[in-house]
Amino acid sequence: MKKYQSLVIKPLLDENYPVISHGEGIYLYDKDGKAYIDAASGAVTASIGHGNAEIIEAMNEQAKKVSFVYRSQFTSDAVEELARELNEWAGGDEDYYTFFVNSGSEATETAMKIAIQHFQERGLPQKNKIISRWTSYHGITIGALSMSGHKKRRERFHSLLADYPVVAPPACYRCPFGETYPACHLKCADDLITAIEKNGAEHIAAFIAEPIIGAAGAAIVPPPGYYERIMEICREHDILFIADEVMTGIARCGTPLGINHWDVLPDIIALGKGLSAGYTPIAAALCTETVLEPIKNGSNFIMSGHTYSANPQSAATALAVLRYVRKHGLIERSKENGTYLKTKLKSLFNYFACIGDVRGAGMMVGIEFVQHRSSKKPFDSQLGFTQKLVKAAQNNGLLIYPAGTARTKGDGDAVIIAPPLITTKEEIDEIVHRLKQSIEQILLEMP
Ligand code: PLP
Repeated sequence: MKKYQSLVIKPLLDENYPVISHGEGIYLYDKDGKAYIDAASGAVTASIGHGNAEIIEAMNEQAKKVSFVYRSQFTSDAVEELARELNEWAGGDEDYYTFFVNSGSEATETAMKIAIQHFQERGLPQKNKIISRWTSYHGITIGALSMSGHKKRRERFHSLLADYPVVAPPACYRCPFGETYPACHLKCADDLITAIEKNGAEHIAAFIAEPIIGAAGAAIVPPPGYYERIMEICREHDILFIADEVMTGIARCGTPLGINHWDVLPDIIALGKGLSAGYTPIAAALCTETVLEPIKNGSNFIMSGHTYSANPQSAATALAVLRYVRKHGLIERSKENGTYLKTKLKSLFNYFACIGDVRGAGMMVGIEFVQHRSSKKPFDSQLGFTQKLVKAAQNNGLLIYPAGTARTKGDGDAVIIAPPLITTKEEIDEIVHRLKQSIEQILLEMP
């Protein structure tokens, strides 16, 4: 008999890998009938939970009309309506225009290309490098990975990656400068000046940042004033600011976008994940009219695109998700229940000295684990603390997201708790209970 199995799983070809049969609300059920609380929304994606009838109905309605048109021939009502809606979500007085793609990696890579093309069409083709932070993740494709500081995901492909400059992360728990806010005067933001001076502003197109650092840093929230200072520096040097909102966007952080925690409007915004809340693959790169202008007046063409870009089926799905989020007050709920979640997780300080830090915004909360809170010394990576915890939690019917930390560029032990935005306070209590139980179990096994 011929063998088969999809290769998306880890480890490859594992016959015992759980197979999900269905999902409902914040729960996923496997074929053996085991229920899991999806406290990571998959990969911080399924933000309105599973099996939502309103979204399924909207998907069916669009399928009855048309599921695919090719973007170089036609647009569709669903795509245009979604672009209009996203312009509202982006906020500010200036209009944002949207280029649709299918994954977060494509969104950041498109953002990068739009930034570079913007300067090309202004007659500045040498302005083509993108600065990022050494604790960052912007995607897995070669362009997106070139802008990412994620050590593990980069190391096999070094020879293919562009050698872009990186700056220090705004990580107060492990300040790269050994300072404390506010006495630090935002040295982490000013590190951008150092990188610009080293490389020459005439070679830099953009600075890209996750407003709140996700996979690589476990929900690191920069201090107040950080992005305002970043924006000032970008403006002074004619550099565009790209906000990678793939993880933080669409109500995840208790605000429409993660960047709304600061008073700045990015030049380019990348969206993914929560945009369709997992109901279909869709992502987007939004840019302001100012960014678009030289392209419109020049080649009048964005040199990018995929067969499935601007897919009407995906657009109708995302539109239904955005409307659902607004209609059910999920931005406000993310803020309120996110505060509750963080408080409950902080209460675990009383039980575990190995919890070093609890941080985040809205329904995206990170926990960093250390040998002892007083020393902040990380566990030996050989112990595989995070992997053990994620596994123990899964055995206890709880899905959590493994993440990196700002220590030595991405090592360390941390997880993100990011349940669907519909999660109730009672369900949050159950999440924290199962997490506590899982930590207790693995600590018993630690040497
Ligand atoms: N940007 C950020 C901030 C992300 O968290 C991710 C994925 O985790 C990506 C980009 C890449 O998105 P995708 O996995 O959809 O390609």
